[in-house]
Parts: sequence; structure tokens; C-alpha cells
Amino acid sequence: MELWQQMVRDSVHSVDQLVDKFGLDRKVAEDLDEFFQARINPYYLNLIRYPGDPIWLQCVPDKQELNDLDGFEDPLKEDEMSPVPNITHRYPDRALFLTTSQCGMYCRFCTRKRKVGDSEKISMKQLESAFKYLEAHTEIRDVILSGGDPLMLTDVMLEKIIKRLRTIPHIEIIRIGSKMPCVLPQRITPKLVEMLKKYHPIYVNTHFNHPWEITPESTKACEMLVNAGVVVGNQSVLMKGVNDNAEVMRELLIKLLKIRVKPYYLFMADETKGATHFRTSIDTGMEIIYKLRGHISGLAIPHFVIDAPGGGGKIPILPQYVLHRDEDRIVMRNYKNEVFVYRDVKESKDLGNKIPVEISDKKNGDTKSPKNFKDITEIKMTEFISSNN
Ligand code: SF4
Repeated sequence: MELWQQMVRDSVHSVDQLVDKFGLDRKVAEDLDEFFQARINPYYLNLIRYPGDPIWLQCVPDKQELNDLDGFEDPLKEDEMSPVPNITHRYPDRALFLTTSQCGMYCRFCTRKRKVGDSEKISMKQLESAFKYLEAHTEIRDVILSGGDPLMLTDVMLEKIIKRLRTIPHIEIIRIGSKMPCVLPQRITPKLVEMLKKYHPIYVNTHFNHPWEITPESTKACEMLVNAGVVVGNQSVLMKGVNDNAEVMRELLIKLLKIRVKPYYLFMADETKGATHFRTSIDTGMEIIYKLRGHISGLAIPHFVIDAPGGGGKIPILPQYVLHRDEDRIVMRNYKNEVFVYRDVKESKDLGNKIPVEISDKKNGDTKSPKNFKDITEIKMTEFISSNN
């Protein structure tokens, strides 16, 4: 057994451990165990500095999870967009391929907690129909291995999957969505990176949320991947008490760049059942981005997005930089709140006026007739229903 596998085995996971280590009431611990089990491996456990700190919040079960009346089991409607088991096909040329239900740690904010940890719901037995789907759909050029965490598979099993994907000519990019570099960096072994580098282009999207997660161990893990030619990006989730202020986010993003990990996305927290206590306001997110852009390198700034409820996909959100636009000019503010005017030019094709926009929020997913983008301002917001799903 490899070290990382032993560390998974040594995780805090039982009701007794939750009661003893974190002082949870036994009945609450039992209910939480039933709702979404705990798994806190010794490496991540050691990152906790004090009760309730940003590391604790991400991994220690909390009774607030049980009182959540607002969240949804599957806020992104991944299951409805699943043509065959283990595949979610939402975007034209990309597909999500769920390869395991297991993770190196179970994050309390997980969007997929309806499936994670349950091998019946993400079953290895169904991989063949997923491969067949990917082979038949020639429009798919980018496959994202996810789960659970694909790096919970053994090297042999992971290589079998990647090797098979590499036999499909239209699949150009293979991405691995893995939190292991952050939560169990011991998983990134010389053997693993030697295997991965045979199948380039391989991308890894990892998931750091707080600067304390950047340790000598996680730094080494990311560097091993990058040194093997893997492009490593980071996705963070904005969470109350974890990273919902500009200073923390700034430190995280700068440290990520230093370990050669490109900040890729910052997500607003999904409306997931049992995780809505992590949600912050959109204003908080926009203020953080406004305080960062211009103040630190653009390389460090992630796309700030909402993964649209109901399966609409990732939609970028920007602070209001454009103050006015007409036929001749655009009026904008910069990162210092100074105002500038940029004169527009007329183009024979005038593409800007003809970009079709599907207004798609009438009932989270219903579409309205295409409009050109200048018509957006004419839409009466009262006609839209804001309720979800
Ligand atoms: S590693 Fe990812 S899939 Fe697993 S529990 Fe954490 S967020 Fe969910």
C-alpha cells in the first residue's frame, strides 16, 4: 500500500472520532454521518490551527448542514444532463466523466455530496457505456475526469482510463479535476507523474481555497506535476469564513502563482443542500475581484463565475467597469475608480450589434427569443421569475 492510501485509511471518519476530536454532540454526529460522511486525512487534519478556522470549516461536519431548507440536492442539474451513467454533457465540445465516488477528503461544501462517497452512484462497472458515448460523440474534444477525485484511483486504473481516451481521435484534451494536490499532496508521486506525462496534453485543475493550504508538501506536489509538463490550474469557491475577504484571496492567488498554479476560476458557492451556510453575497465576491484587479498581476486573477442553477453553465460576473455605452463611445472606470472614455469605430459588419443573446432565466432554463445585446436593457426584470429549479 502506498503512503497516500494508508493516509486515507487513517482518516477521521467515525461518529466516535467526531465526538472525541471535535466535541460534536453524538446525535448530531450520527445525523451528519448519515447525511454526508466525514473523511479527514491526517495531512489535512494537521493544517487546522484552531477550532472553527478556515481549514476546520472545510472539513469538520457542522450541524448547520442539517438545518438547510434552501439548498438543492443537485443544484447544477448534472444528473439531468447525463446521457449515460458517469457522463455529464453540458457544453458543446466538453464532457465530464465521473470515474470514482471516492475523495482524499470529503469537503463539507461539496456540490456533489449526493453522490460522493457512494460507489453505487458513481460506479466503475458503468465505465464502458461512458467510453462508448465519448467515442460516438465526435464533437467532444475535451474530457474532464472528475468524481469524486480521479486521483483516488490507482495509477494502473487511471492509466487504463487515460489510455482508452487516447485511442479516441477527437479527444484532444484530457483534464483531471483533483483536490489531491491540496488535501493529500502525498498522492502526487514520481510514478504518477511519469505515467501522466506519456499522455499529454494533460491538464490538472486543482482546488485550493485558502493560503494555509499552500504548504511545502502541496508546493512539491504542484511542482512535480508542472515539471512533468502538466498544466495546473486552480478553482476556488468563495466561502463565508474561509476566504471571503480580499486580503485572504490576494494571498492565496499570489501564492498559487508562485507554485506555478494558474488561478482559473473563483466560483460563487452553489446552492447545495447542506452547504448553503457557506454562501456569501454576490457583492462580496464582486468587491473582492474589484479590490484585486489592477492591484495584483492579471495572471493571478481568476474568472469570477456563477455556475448557473439549473445547469446553465458558468457565467462570468464582473464588477461594473462599464459606466455608459452608446454608438460612439464607451465610458469606463479603472481599478482606481478613475473614469475614461474610449471612442468606438464603425465597422461594416458591426458585429457587436448582432450578437444574438438567448435570455434564459424565465424559469431557470426556459429560453426567450434571441435578442441583440443592446435589447437587454429593454427587458423588464419583473417578468423573470427568480425562484430556482
Ligand atoms: S474533493 Fe471535490 S468531489 Fe470530493 S468532496 Fe471535495 S469538493 Fe467534493
